Amino acid sequence: MIETRPELKNISDYVPGKSIEEICEQYGLQSAVKLASNENPLGPSPKAQKAFCEMASSLHLYPRGNAPHLISAIAAKFGVPKNQIVLGNGSDEIIDMVGKAFLQPGDECLGISTTFSVYRATAILYGAKYVSVSQSPERPSLDAYLQAVTPKTRMVFICNPNNPTGFYYSEKELLDFLAKLPRDILVFLDEAYLDFATAADFPNLISQMESHPNLILNRTFSKIYGLAGIRIGFAFASPEVSAAIWKVKPAFNVNIAAQAAAESALLDDEHIRLSLEVTEAGKAFLTSHLEKLGFVVLPTQANFLCIKIGEKCKELVEYLERNGMIVRHLKSFSLPEWIRVTIGKPEENQLFVDLVQKWKAL
Ligand SMILES: *Cc1c(COP(=O)(O)O)cnc(C)c1O
Repeated sequence: MIETRPELKNISDYVPGKSIEEICEQYGLQSAVKLASNENPLGPSPKAQKAFCEMASSLHLYPRGNAPHLISAIAAKFGVPKNQIVLGNGSDEIIDMVGKAFLQPGDECLGISTTFSVYRATAILYGAKYVSVSQSPERPSLDAYLQAVTPKTRMVFICNPNNPTGFYYSEKELLDFLAKLPRDILVFLDEAYLDFATAADFPNLISQMESHPNLILNRTFSKIYGLAGIRIGFAFASPEVSAAIWKVKPAFNVNIAAQAAAESALLDDEHIRLSLEVTEAGKAFLTSHLEKLGFVVLPTQANFLCIKIGEKCKELVEYLERNGMIVRHLKSFSLPEWIRVTIGKPEENQLFVDLVQKWKAL
């Protein structure tokens, strides 16, 4: 028998949203709509597509590991010094690099149960313990994290807005929390969905990084920028935290096509505006129709809705799949009676509502 590292025994495989291909094969369908992974329903920005295609003749060349053009573009857009920017093969890899650089066996990480599963898996992979401060879909107070701090606490994972429940913490709440938290504990603030947030008090903590060197702001090109398939994410952190992440970064982790596409996507304000418009309209449409059908829909600051279906949740998910509609069953997020639905294009949202209505009438 070949022995693995013992930590691997405690890590379950990541459960992704099902793919369109998979569902078409399984149910003999010609097409399906995927509202399961919070991808941009409008696709990648046309400018990013063009940049991607233009890289085709350079595919024999290694990428520049330090991605100077993209780093400059990110620095200019967000007003963050270049030595405070890190890039990953998706923000999944950024989470992994943070774990690799900072976690040791015996450390504790704080988080919640109903959130992105990669935080727990990463903590465990590096020998740390993932301590859930809440198991409920409701928003725990940030005091719950403070109360769970021990001398072993090394990192706190907060997803803002949270995937899959959509709740958020305001700027004031986070700043109060940061002021009370011991300053040697890292705060991994996952802002993958920040671009969709519309609340007036939603935080923008870039200006706070200087006074909080333990703060990591995680972003991604997978959501509003529409580049999930090409795998690229970025994060902002203090110069010392960034330098540690750069040390553990695989040399060529972000490929040349991703670097080029991301740089163009970043500057495509029109595509970002249209994406936001579709999300806002779809959010209002879906919420009102689902509430009329009697479902609990959690308020959201992201591009998805978290909906309580009840005991027959699995049945609905299968009914939808048979009819070519893929949504996310939240069993793997510790919410077996709930689904998460990505806000799609108007006709996709309409199809989802129609199918739920038909299922309910069965
Ligand atoms: C989608 C998502 C990301 C983005 O992951 P990538 O690896 O960049 O595609 C990060 N965090 C959360 C919570 C997400 O839902």
